[in-house]
Parts: sequence; structure tokens; C-alpha cells
Amino acid sequence: MKIIAGNWKMNMTRRETLEYFERYAGLNPDKSGARVIFLVPYTAISTAVETGENLGFEVGAQNVYPAAAGAYTGEITADMIKDCGAKVVLVGHSERRTLFRESDTFINEKLRCVLDAGLSAILCVGETAKERENDETEGVLWRQITMALDKLPDLSKLIIAYEPVWAVGKTADGKSKKPATSQQIADAHAFIKTILTGFTDANDIPVLYGGNVKSETSGEIMRIPNVDGVLVGGASLKVEEFSKIIESSSALLN
Ligand code: PEP
Repeated sequence: MKIIAGNWKMNMTRRETLEYFERYAGLNPDKSGARVIFLVPYTAISTAVETGENLGFEVGAQNVYPAAAGAYTGEITADMIKDCGAKVVLVGHSERRTLFRESDTFINEKLRCVLDAGLSAILCVGETAKERENDETEGVLWRQITMALDKLPDLSKLIIAYEPVWAVGKTADGKSKKPATSQQIADAHAFIKTILTGFTDANDIPVLYGGNVKSETSGEIMRIPNVDGVLVGGASLKVEEFSKIIESSSALLN
């Protein structure tokens, strides 16, 4: 069973969310090969959860604040996310690391809150283009993972997503970035699995690939050893395209 997560980023009103899932229901993609998770804006969580119960997918948030309550104007706790019916939280996405300067220590605090609340967490890790050019990919992955997982008591609900920053999203002139090659993905995933052997009970942590995954490439990517699924950004906003990505995981069962 693969995991297919769609990150809607800062897109989709409640009405658009409803319309999306009405179309999704009509397409009724064969998801027998996947656990499907939609990571939606906070404001769309309840709407997505109400629809999701019938359609068999999980809903997640894209961020969280690592405190139980208090004077943190504009922030949201893990319990509030859970209260809206979400089951998953995305932590450490490269856009948050870059635009909001989130540190590895802060990401560790966030993961602790999410897992303590009994929610699943998807931790994003990945190197920048410069770090890859400088041959620092393995060092960056090692630092990001060991710091994020530091002293976490229970990793049973953790998922990791390898998202090389140079492959995620669009370039400044609006073009899709080039996806990583199969070899680059295979090497990074094998290395991440090796890092995880250093953590007790970490053997079964799924590792997803993210970075310009499309329906033409998703099946091939999910066939790469140690790739347990995909995290999809832009393509998850197009319901037909995302449905095809989901179906490509079912095709792997045959
Ligand atoms: C993402 O936002 O996690 C992502 C992988 O984006 P995209 O698929 O658009 O590269």
C-alpha cells in the first residue's frame, strides 16, 4: 500500500473544496493501492473532513504551532487541528523552512506536538540546489532528520517526505522545476532508510518522494526501491490529474 498525499498549499476556498470533491466522487479513482491524504488550508479542513468520510481519504493540515494554548496570535494548536477532524499534519515543508525561517529545532518541537496529540505527521526534508552542487545532500538529510526526530518517544505515526528543494514547485518565471532523476531519488531514499536504522522502531517509517510529480511519472517513481509513495503539490489541485496519480498506485498492485 502506497501513501499519496496532496498538498494544496494556499489554495482552495470552502466552495472550491466542495466542488473539487464532488468531481472527485464522480471520477471515483481506484484507490485500492493507496492511503490518500489531502493537506488543505486550515479554513477548508472541516469541509474536506465532512466530504472525506464517505470518499475514504484522510485530511491533514499544512502547519501547526508547537504549544498547547496561549498568547500566540494567529497560530493553531495540534488539538485544534484534531478537533476539526484532521488526522495528519505536514511539518517542515521547504516553503516554511525558507519563507518563514523554520529551524530544525522548531520543527522538532512541532513534530513532538503533532505526535503527542495522536496525529500522523509528514516531515519534509531535502537539500537546496546549492547544497547538492556542493555535495552536501547526505549531510543535510542527516542533520534535518536526526534533529527533527531527536528524543521523540513514538515514531509509529511518522511519515517522511524527501523533497529536494530544487525540484519542488515552480521557478521564478512560473515554469515547473525539473524533477529529480530515478537514480537521484533511489540514492536519497536509500540513504534516508539508512539514517532511520539508527532510531528504535523506525524501520517501518514510510518515505515519500515529492517534487513535480505528475500522472505520467508517478507510477515509475513509486516503483523505485524504498519509495513508499508520493507527496504532490501543484498537480493535486487538478482533480483529474490527481485521480490519475492515485490510480497509478493501484496499477502497481497488478
Ligand atoms: C510540495 O509542495 O510538496 C510539492 C511537491 O510541490 P510540487 O509537486 O508542485 O513540486
